[in-house]
Amino acid sequence: MTQLSCAVALGSNLGDSAQTLTQAIATLAQHPHLSLQAVSPWYQTAPVGGPPQPDYLNGCAVFETTLTPLRLLDILLQTEQQFGRIRRERWGPRSLDLDLLFYAEQIINLPRLTVPHPRMRDRAFVLVPLADIAPHWRDPVTQQTVAQLCAQVDRSGIQQQLAEKISEL
Ligand code: ATP
Ligand code: MG
Ligand code: MG
Repeated sequence: MTQLSCAVALGSNLGDSAQTLTQAIATLAQHPHLSLQAVSPWYQTAPVGGPPQPDYLNGCAVFETTLTPLRLLDILLQTEQQFGRIRRERWGPRSLDLDLLFYAEQIINLPRLTVPHPRMRDRAFVLVPLADIAPHWRDPVTQQTVAQLCAQVDRSGIQQQLAEKISEL
């Protein structure tokens, strides 16, 4: 079966976020139909939207997969549940958020799934880590590369690079 590349955004601002992100990557990497290609550093970021809440830790990962986009979404949502995600108010604090950013160069508009992720172009907390690992990936909607999108976004809420790439995964 054809392997296609996909990009996933990770975020956490409840509990031990660094441990959660690392373990979430490890969990996904163990899936038989996901092959981990790259992991960004983690960034501490100011919350955008939603209620007052702690800073986030954000990162991105690239996988190759034979999963369909909807099957992959289900695995991401299941993994959030496994790490204690409880959905309360929109954009409220969460132990783990896993969003599908890109699925190859596909444009997907389904009730449960929009790809590329429709808000990623406004989000430095997505674009900064994604540009670390996939600067040349071209957004099929705007035809801009991740590096170009990243250069245009307000990066003031991105506070620091917290951890190096997890090389042992
Ligand atoms: P945002 O989408 O603005 O980042 P969020 O991540 O907090 O907000 P969630 O509560 O995690 O939103 O997701 C709500 C729903 O969004 C999911 O149940 C899923 O069906 C849908 N969804 C649509 N497109 C995507 C996508 N590309 N990645 C993840 N979820 C998506
Ligand atoms: Mg999200
Ligand atoms: Mg989400």
